[in-house]
Amino acid sequence: MRFEVSKVLDAIERRLSIDPAVAAGVVDLAEVMHLDDLDGGRSANLLRLGLVVDALGQRMGDSGAAIYVVAERGVMSDTELTSNERMVIRRWSDDGLIEVLPARAPVVPRVREVSALTGLAMITRVGGASPAYAPVPAPGGVSLVAHAGQPPVANARPNPVLSRQWRCFEFECSSFGEERALGQPPPVVRDGVPICPRHGTRLKDIGARPPALPMAVRVDGLVRQRFSVTSGGPVTVGRAPEGAAVVAIGSYLDEAGVRWVSRSHARLELRDGALHIADTSTNGTTLVRRTGPADQPATEKLANGQREQLGEWDIIVLYEGVEIARADRLPSRSPAATPDSVMADAPTQALRITSR
Ligand SMILES: [Zn+2]
Repeated sequence: MRFEVSKVLDAIERRLSIDPAVAAGVVDLAEVMHLDDLDGGRSANLLRLGLVVDALGQRMGDSGAAIYVVAERGVMSDTELTSNERMVIRRWSDDGLIEVLPARAPVVPRVREVSALTGLAMITRVGGASPAYAPVPAPGGVSLVAHAGQPPVANARPNPVLSRQWRCFEFECSSFGEERALGQPPPVVRDGVPICPRHGTRLKDIGARPPALPMAVRVDGLVRQRFSVTSGGPVTVGRAPEGAAVVAIGSYLDEAGVRWVSRSHARLELRDGALHIADTSTNGTTLVRRTGPADQPATEKLANGQREQLGEWDIIVLYEGVEIARADRLPSRSPAATPDSVMADAPTQALRITSR
């Protein structure tokens, strides 16, 4: 059972991100882990985060939608959780996968702030001024229900702090440290001054934020992974590429796909605001060129070593049904599969989810 629980926590971990380009919703960890009516189990349970991740995936039709988790330091010593759960939260925090505020800092205002700055929907029963969805028990799991009187998504002028890159000088800050030049979370903004949410200290401006393009990997119509390409460096996509800036898609491929797609298949790079691809594969890559959403596409073949500039509506096809495109320019398609559940390996004793 212990092994199964850690498998579920690993599956949840792959869906955590404080990069607003990758996340699809923002939550207060303490609220979610205490929603005991979702499963009727013990009063606090970290696995409930998985129920909410699944509900978010269902709502988006997306197995790549990540969740932006905000917690307060106190949860790491919450004795309602198991020691393993507390240890996992600490690891997620150290790895910069979740945002942990100083002890006793109020979490709800920060969740609202993240939502207001980034446009991410709040997943909460509390509600607020931003779009919010309440997690409620549903047959076979949990679903997200829009709050009544939901405000429209505000098209406010982006806060100027989001156009800069920030640095926190606290030791090994996992939100604004040196390791995290790309995909930064939004700072806390107090009287116009950017503050590190983790340390409560003032952040230093280290320059303009490099432009970033939100990308998605879609397999058989279902988005499996989201990532950003920035002008900070190339990203390698493939079956199992090695290095720091990589997107591994091997686990989404069938047997024939595994044979076809190269370990490092293509390199994506953002130069002068335009996306560029360099094929590094054995079997080549297909580009589906479109000048607009309703355009008749033209296909083009790229062989090993070839480079091309991509247009905003173009789709990269690594293998039949395996597409990479701008996340905000994906043609809508009904997925062939339903989103994966991060709870697939959950032992029945760990959470009493019944088919209601
Ligand atoms: Zn910090």
